[in-house]
Amino acid sequence: MNQRRVSKAIQIGSVTVGGNSPIVVQSMTKTDTRDIMSTIDQIKELEDYDCELVRVAVPDVEAAQAIHAIKKSISIPLIADIHFDYRLALMALEAGADGLRLNPGNIGEPEKVQTIALAAKERNVPIRIGVNAGSLPKPIRPGLTIAQQMVEAALKQIRLLESLDFDLIKVSLKAFDVPTTIEAYRDIAQKIPYPLHIGITEAGTPRTGIIRSTVGISTLLYLGIGDTIRVSLTAHPREEVIAGYEILKSLDLRQHGPILVSCPSCGRAEVDIVKLAEKVEEQLLKIDKPIKVAVMGCVVNGPGEAKDADIGIACGKKKAVLFKKGKKIGVVEERDFVVALMREVGRF
Ligand code: SF4
Repeated sequence: MNQRRVSKAIQIGSVTVGGNSPIVVQSMTKTDTRDIMSTIDQIKELEDYDCELVRVAVPDVEAAQAIHAIKKSISIPLIADIHFDYRLALMALEAGADGLRLNPGNIGEPEKVQTIALAAKERNVPIRIGVNAGSLPKPIRPGLTIAQQMVEAALKQIRLLESLDFDLIKVSLKAFDVPTTIEAYRDIAQKIPYPLHIGITEAGTPRTGIIRSTVGISTLLYLGIGDTIRVSLTAHPREEVIAGYEILKSLDLRQHGPILVSCPSCGRAEVDIVKLAEKVEEQLLKIDKPIKVAVMGCVVNGPGEAKDADIGIACGKKKAVLFKKGKKIGVVEERDFVVALMREVGRF
């Protein structure tokens, strides 16, 4: 795995992105931002899942003004997502947004971006230049690939902000196509010092979207690229946060709660391992400590296959063996499988 790219650290409210800080997990609300109560509820739920930054859509004046009330009831920094109208960015800043996301493809004249940058600078609020392959501005030079056009669009905005002595910059270059996204990030990573927000855009429903996002995000992280991630899913945003942490845990980049090891089951299993693993997974969502828990389908191979698990259960006919670090510590009846396992998890 490559060493993490050195990036400039920026501060979004209380959260540091880039530098040596942990890779930050973020999400975006799916409520109507003007519906203040629903938006607060959703952000609070995201906070329960340890989401670290949240973005809200700001499609109009009412949504921009809603930020003020929303901010009062939440604990994590809030980023305002702005398209088309630069005045909404100014209002969002006024309302207390901790960060802005601008799409250079649709904000328009450089003067508008300049006006936003000056207002953001006054408040020390970072701006993400969020390029999307689907909404690229007209290419400056002909013959460029989509990835090159994305890099070019971002660089143009970055140079504009830099000319105003503004360097609280974060950049994203997202496409639905994974190789395009990877190519774009690899290219820009060598050209700028700013932290990178990585993700695959419009990745889809959890079934396919988690895979698509994981392939893209993990490849980049493995290359040492990425300071904050968002897994875009057509689902409740909590799924995005859960998936984000699972990616980081899989690459040993962050610890976050338990890790579930479960065997795929096979003809040797005498209990419904799929159901059991799902039940255990549900229970583990409530646990904070970084513990490795194994659910295995048979006593013959189970403990051996999961010997690096902290606590595990290996099932047999109506009974199961509990094990700790690969060593047997007890036998439990089928009706107690989940309870007994969780008791040991609690004691660990
Ligand atoms: S642990 Fe046992 S039941 Fe599970 S896959 Fe391995 S051999 Fe099959």
